[in-house]
Amino acid sequence: MKVVLDHVTKTFPNRNKKDKQDVIAVSDFTYEIPDGKLIGLLGPSGCGKSTTLNLISGLLKPTSGRIFFGDDDVTDVAPEHRGIGLVFQNYALYPHMTVAENIMFPLGNLRGKDKMSKADMRAKAEEIARLVQIDPYLDRKPAELSGGQQQRVAIARALVKMPRVLLLDEPLSNLDARLRLQTREEIRRIQRETGITTIFVTHDQEEAMSISDAIVVMKDGVVQQIGAPQDVYNDPCNLFVAKFLGTPPINVFSGTVRAGKLYLGENCVLEVPGISDRDVTVGIRPEGFEVDADGPMQCALNAIEVMGRDVSVVAGHPACQSTSIRAIVDADDVKGLSMTVRFRLKPHKVELFDTVTEERIGF
Ligand code: ADP
Ligand code: MG
Repeated sequence: MKVVLDHVTKTFPNRNKKDKQDVIAVSDFTYEIPDGKLIGLLGPSGCGKSTTLNLISGLLKPTSGRIFFGDDDVTDVAPEHRGIGLVFQNYALYPHMTVAENIMFPLGNLRGKDKMSKADMRAKAEEIARLVQIDPYLDRKPAELSGGQQQRVAIARALVKMPRVLLLDEPLSNLDARLRLQTREEIRRIQRETGITTIFVTHDQEEAMSISDAIVVMKDGVVQQIGAPQDVYNDPCNLFVAKFLGTPPINVFSGTVRAGKLYLGENCVLEVPGISDRDVTVGIRPEGFEVDADGPMQCALNAIEVMGRDVSVVAGHPACQSTSIRAIVDADDVKGLSMTVRFRLKPHKVELFDTVTEERIGF
């Protein structure tokens, strides 16, 4: 089922008495979410992710704009009639019910021709429990499960009515690091197996990048960029997106273009043909540096952090906008380095941005 947001805006009245302006939680959001895909809705806290999800679920009504599931306009349809499955950060299971009863619970609300017998409900719960791999625990209470298992129960409960759209709001935030990794792979597998269009909200860029068919990056209620994770990483439309994606983050410098050459401080680091003389903000990915004794970019070497096969070189440069830069290089390349390190840059890992608008400048 494709999901269409058509110029969706949501404002809330401002509770701050001195400020009469409404809070714009989501601003003019337009996107057609393709059928059967997993979309990661990504951005810092407060950027409007949950509001967007709640507009799709129907828990909130847009101030303006329309929402469609397939060709159905669902803007005025109540959440329980939209055919959605919802999972939140806190699993919100019923503590006095068993796992099976929790999963079956939504089926008990079915009426009329959809009404199911107890035996059919149990069979359906068992089927879904197998899908999310919690079938050995059907007769336990939630308190007798780990956090990851509880979240699987919540996912099973959201899936049991075979929703048209699955909505997940930071579903992994309460899990420890290892379980988060494991559960996100599980979500990806379940999504593939069921083919249910899924919208996955997270503030964690790595999480979104790793499991999404496409990511939507938001800031202050405004969609910044939509695309396949690797494409957005490689071609960020502005400095915010460039900085938000990637660990370690992109290194940011103040630079100048003169006669088709990019300068960082005194160092002429790259040819940038076709760009007229101007000041620029320069982003260089950590993997964009190559250690080279004759390289044009000279840095003070602060530390070398070992990460196994690769090392992270922590270095200083006068044009850098933060205290140090981080370069990920091969461990063999840093042998014998002491006070300084020189780099050559990989052109496709260098991005230029307007110093004022922060929009990307293509070259
Ligand atoms: P996110 O999920 O990305 O952290 P939210 O969608 O929850 O962000 O919130 C987006 C913005 O809308 C925030 O500035 C938040 O304070 C505001 N907001 C959310 N819900 C309400 C509400 N019910 N009343 C007033 N402001 C709200
Ligand atoms: Mg939220």
